[in-house]
Amino acid sequence: MIVRYYLPVLAVLLAGCGQGAGRAPRQDSAVDLGRLARADGQSGIDAGARPDSAPDRSSTIDMDGSSDQPADRSIGPDLAADTKAAADLAADASADGGVTDAASAAMDAMVDGPEADASDDGVCALADNISVAKLPAIGFSTYHNQQQIEDYLQAVASAFPTIATYKVNGQSAQGRDIPYLIINATCQASPPAIFTNGTHHGDEPASTEAALGIPDYLLRRSTTDASVRSLLGTYAFYVLPLVNPDGFALDTRENAAGLDINRDYSYPGRSDADSFKTVEAQLVKSLQESVGFRAAVAYHSGAQEVLWPWCYTADATVDGGFFAAAGQQTAQAMSFAIYQQSYDDYPTQGEYIDFAYWKNHTLAATFEVSTVKAPSVALLAGVVDGASKGTVAWVQAANDHANGRLHALSAPAAARRRFPLTAPFDGTNRLE
Ligand SMILES: [Zn+2]
Repeated sequence: MIVRYYLPVLAVLLAGCGQGAGRAPRQDSAVDLGRLARADGQSGIDAGARPDSAPDRSSTIDMDGSSDQPADRSIGPDLAADTKAAADLAADASADGGVTDAASAAMDAMVDGPEADASDDGVCALADNISVAKLPAIGFSTYHNQQQIEDYLQAVASAFPTIATYKVNGQSAQGRDIPYLIINATCQASPPAIFTNGTHHGDEPASTEAALGIPDYLLRRSTTDASVRSLLGTYAFYVLPLVNPDGFALDTRENAAGLDINRDYSYPGRSDADSFKTVEAQLVKSLQESVGFRAAVAYHSGAQEVLWPWCYTADATVDGGFFAAAGQQTAQAMSFAIYQQSYDDYPTQGEYIDFAYWKNHTLAATFEVSTVKAPSVALLAGVVDGASKGTVAWVQAANDHANGRLHALSAPAAARRRFPLTAPFDGTNRLE
């Protein structure tokens, strides 16, 4: 972690060490031939050879205050209305044995809805009616490769055709699919939605697995945990494990062009036109803007922390009190000690969470899910479980916030600043 304060060229050396230490446990993996083939000293992080790996590092931050807060301030009323509508639908459906005209109409209106299934007439399934027996097997005693990830998400969609939809958001620079799964057990056509994503950084496979664990955790827990069931009945969950499939295949932090996707988003100090140099960030942007997520979690690995906007400035957002309270609850759920505004970890420019919060008022967090990027397979299941618990805690906090049930904390009280900040700071050198 301390390497962030050294020159990039030194970071190359230290990152190589860290990456080697992180990669070694993965040699247990039966599915990771690509990574093993690269265990030949070829560094995935080569800042010296990739001067463009940190786009716009010299950009200045517009501090005039005209555009540094999210445009959409109406999350509370909207969410309350949506939640009430969902509750009404659910109540109606329950009273009528699970099928109502309204629910059917909502199902029919789903532009991107699941295909009808003959076995259950294609009628949407409420969270109350999820059959765990149908869940495809997924274990985290090994890392999964791209094909296995696609197969699993498709299997979930096939097992739950009325609530789960498999989609491809597009293709990476090298032509790999970027798959995602929508779980919508609300019986609404356009419910408020949650976005969970992994692998902005291709050499952080624990973040991939963290996202991959979400469908099983939510669906399985919904039968025994009323709070999870309620969240599933309120929100659609978008699960996108592989933001950066090329980096994942190459075991590099950056994408195939050597660009750090999680520095490529716009934020209040940089326009869209000067951002989004990577096709992968463009694809996330497209999904983000089309759905307008209420909350989001971007999984990373290399530390254990819960982080929230802003990344680019020490100023707290207008939701600083929410973020502090949500971060505290989430960190407790994950047994993490550190939760803080991302800037207080260290300043960065162009992260997904700043973009999502700025553009859509998405209550977005970065979860650093494990102390190393690729924990041993013996530890992996625990990491995934912790990430799932944290995700539920974060979404629950967002839901409570929208309904006026979350007691906000003062942001300074919650922040755990660990490192002295220097100015100017090269925030492009983040290695987690
Ligand atoms: Zn990362």
